[in-house]
Amino acid sequence: MSFLAPTSAYIHIPFCRRRCFYCDFPISVIGNRQRGETSGTIQTYVNWLCQEIKATAVLGPPLQTVFFGGGTPSLLSVAQLEQILHTLEQQFGVAPGAEISMEMDPGTFDLAHVNGYCTLGVNRISLGVQAFDDDLLERCGRFHRRTDVDRAVDDMRQSQVPSWSLDLISGLPYQSLAQWHEMLECAIATQPHHISIYDLTIEPSTPFGKQYQPGEQPLPTEATTVEMYRLAQRTLTIAGYDHYEISNYAKPGHQCRHNRTYWENRPFYGFGMGATSYTQGQRFARPRTQQTYRQWVESYQQTGGKLNEPTLPLTEQLTDRLMVGLRLAEGIDLAEFVQAFGAAFTTMLDACLKPYLKSGQAVLENNRLRLSDPDGFLISNTVLADLFNGIEQLTTP
Ligand code: SF4
Repeated sequence: MSFLAPTSAYIHIPFCRRRCFYCDFPISVIGNRQRGETSGTIQTYVNWLCQEIKATAVLGPPLQTVFFGGGTPSLLSVAQLEQILHTLEQQFGVAPGAEISMEMDPGTFDLAHVNGYCTLGVNRISLGVQAFDDDLLERCGRFHRRTDVDRAVDDMRQSQVPSWSLDLISGLPYQSLAQWHEMLECAIATQPHHISIYDLTIEPSTPFGKQYQPGEQPLPTEATTVEMYRLAQRTLTIAGYDHYEISNYAKPGHQCRHNRTYWENRPFYGFGMGATSYTQGQRFARPRTQQTYRQWVESYQQTGGKLNEPTLPLTEQLTDRLMVGLRLAEGIDLAEFVQAFGAAFTTMLDACLKPYLKSGQAVLENNRLRLSDPDGFLISNTVLADLFNGIEQLTTP
């Protein structure tokens, strides 16, 4: 079987000053005093990360996108970022014009810091604002406050960064529709090139999971979160943002190229504690603690950078493609599905989608399937569940 060559790399920087109450990501809390080179913990991690990068087989041409996610990548010093980028460059090469994105949290950097990153090639920043209201930020366990947000936004505007995005969370405890509207207006006023909006997910293992039940007070009702989604879609579209993905809006020319790799189900390298990679049909999630990650890097080096994971069955690859592809406004090309499953696939699709096609929530044209915005996006999970059932029946002997 031949596989597409990866041209994207995700780098996980698993450090935060404190853990937010809704977060179950693989991170280590380091407090506020130790940062950058002053933190032995971060430097030790960066060294292991670079060991992992160096041990990894080169599977394709130079990288077209690199994404530093976390955690809080802006806790890296400029020198640490340089060390990682240099290692990537040496191992895989970084193509001219590559998109290099970095997640940054308000209150963890200043203008010199941003410009230092930009000088190294960072050309897209994703600013984790989440909320503009101090009470909401406090209730979520966020470290930063509104004053940090205002300063961070000023830095974005004065910096050399050519493209920046602002992240917001909807559906927070005690958040009203009116507050959400205000938040959207605040976001637009900062004039980012891109806005990401995530609806709060309550993970059972987090403080929020122990404190709140989805849909119950003080969390907004389901009807309110649906209204929040519609309001965001209307408000941001009117403000000139293209709703190109279920949770993402961009001004022309500012879509996130790296994240499109995921939504188009293309392969990518993943590096660092807890990071997932998808190469040669193998999906692999790295260990989620510092110690187990280091042990894993040691054995990975000894095996010559081989993952030895089973190749995902074709059905799974295709259902993955369906799941991520239907997040995009343009939807998916069905040609590959028809090739894999034959004419029975088209019959199944028509039967599964009949009610959604009739209501206009799904649209089938020019052999492409997409969900409408916002009605189709709002029921994407239901549509996907129906499609997965249909595919399962097709493939069950
Ligand atoms: S900053 Fe992000 S990764 Fe860190 S604890 Fe908060 S939500 Fe989790």
